[in-house]
Amino acid sequence: MRVMDKELKGIFEKGLFKGEMKFDELMSEHTSLRIGGPAEVLVFPEDPVSLRNVLRAAKKENIPVAMLGGGTNLLVSDKGIEGVVISLKAFRGIEFTRESNDREAVLYVAAGVPLAVLLSFAQKNGCAGIEALAGIPGYFGGAVFMNAGSFGTEIKDVLVSVAVMDMNGKISILEKDKLNFSYRSSNISDGLIILSANILLKRDNPDDISRRMKDFLNKKRNTQPLGEPSAGCVFKNPEGDAAGRLIDAAGCKGMKNGDVEVSAAHANYFINKGNATCRDFIALMETVKAKVKEHSGVALEPEIKIIGKGI
Ligand SMILES: Cc1cc2nc3c(=O)[nH]c(=O)nc-3n(C[C@H](O)[C@H](O)[C@H](O)COP(=O)(O)OP(=O)(O)OC[C@H]3O[C@@H](n4cnc5c(N)ncnc54)[C@H](O)[C@@H]3O)c2cc1C
Repeated sequence: MRVMDKELKGIFEKGLFKGEMKFDELMSEHTSLRIGGPAEVLVFPEDPVSLRNVLRAAKKENIPVAMLGGGTNLLVSDKGIEGVVISLKAFRGIEFTRESNDREAVLYVAAGVPLAVLLSFAQKNGCAGIEALAGIPGYFGGAVFMNAGSFGTEIKDVLVSVAVMDMNGKISILEKDKLNFSYRSSNISDGLIILSANILLKRDNPDDISRRMKDFLNKKRNTQPLGEPSAGCVFKNPEGDAAGRLIDAAGCKGMKNGDVEVSAAHANYFINKGNATCRDFIALMETVKAKVKEHSGVALEPEIKIIGKGI
């Protein structure tokens, strides 16, 4: 750890890395669940060259690297995360590309753009196709990695290509047909960092887009506890069924372990009621999983990403 401090600080001092850097930063400050111990180093590179230099320093010293988006789908260990955690929140920008015309728009979107900002940009500029994603928190890069989706629309439906950087700092453009997106996943591996992606949207009337967005958001608000600390759906929906329905049917709604509670509003959301720990969260996941298996025979798979020391 101290070697890493020296190496990364050295990069900072030499001016090879532009951006903020924090040591022993609590991940509970950076996750929507408000759970997670300290990341040894958390960096916020401001441009691809800075990112590349951080990656090279980490590689040289054999330091593990983890990616953080908006932290809205993450459960982080109480013991924290070893190595360097990278946030691309400084990678902002949405632009119309030259392929755009009066029927379609191809937008370049940087990884650190909050999904809500993208939706608002698309609505104001009369670009339709992602209204159903209204209310999904986090950044665009995280949404691409997770193939986030809602009400039948997934990020993959609008993707054209994704720009990624590997751990050596090499940038490649991956066309959509090479990406094998499936439900809440893609074959973009943990060794690749999403820098940006191009998406294809249809031109439409901004008022109509706005109306559809509001309808989707209201539907989401009426069925999901959006105002409480959670990481969204804990388990993936099994083929042809809903994890929330199965959890409810197994009698787990409202079940508690420490300060973690299975939401009464939507059983696939686990809420941090105050001082929840990762340990309590995982224990509750295990209990719920076992009860669902016993009740319906279905083995639930986690949708949330669980990372950090001892996981
Ligand atoms: C209230 C609430 C409602 C939600 N509703 C939905 C919903 O309707 N549909 C849905 O799909 N999800 C939903 N989610 C889950 C979550 O918001 C999405 O999965 C979101 O897209 C995750 O984005 P993020 O930036 O927060 O990623 P994070 O949680 O920070 O990271 C998720 C994964 O992506 C990786 N990652 C992040 N950025 C990058 C990058 N630039 N390059 C490579 N890897 C990266 C991380 O390492 C991690 O493995 C909800 C969450 C909450 C809290």
